[in-house]
Amino acid sequence: MKRFFLVCFGFLCLAFLIISCQTQERTDTQETSSEVQVRPSPLEQDCSFCGMPSGEFPKFNAYFKTASSQHGFCSTRCLFAFYLNDENQITAADITEAQVTDYYTTKKIEAKKAFYVSGSQQKGPMGADFMPFDTQDAAQEFKIDHKGEAIYTFEQINASVLSEVLQGKK
Ligand SMILES: [Zn+2]
Repeated sequence: MKRFFLVCFGFLCLAFLIISCQTQERTDTQETSSEVQVRPSPLEQDCSFCGMPSGEFPKFNAYFKTASSQHGFCSTRCLFAFYLNDENQITAADITEAQVTDYYTTKKIEAKKAFYVSGSQQKGPMGADFMPFDTQDAAQEFKIDHKGEAIYTFEQINASVLSEVLQGKK
């Protein structure tokens, strides 16, 4: 009788082993296929300007793509600091896609169509920053509520505007 139980127990163990192996195999295949499907988002890259992990700042992060490269940034100011650096030789025409984070809605919006408020009390991950908005009305409202200095479009932000904003002068 004892032997009968032992044999039964042995079979049960074997059955469990087979089932768990099969389950394991299935999970492995699923993981592999999902890994293949995931494309690296520039918003998850380390900031191309300061090196901080952009993914840790979902309320401020930004990115742009050119025909040959993609760059993620922790904040709007890092995007402009990188884009306006002559050494990187990037013009507005080179940028095929660019998004920043709307301060009020925290949604990603087109960087080239956004309105940027400078000099406000609201700081970004790196300190003084431009706060982006989808509409001019929202930018105006924010400027009044948060004591902003000025509203810029994408084209209006150049190296001298950037440097004054970073120094807290505008
Ligand atoms: Zn940065």
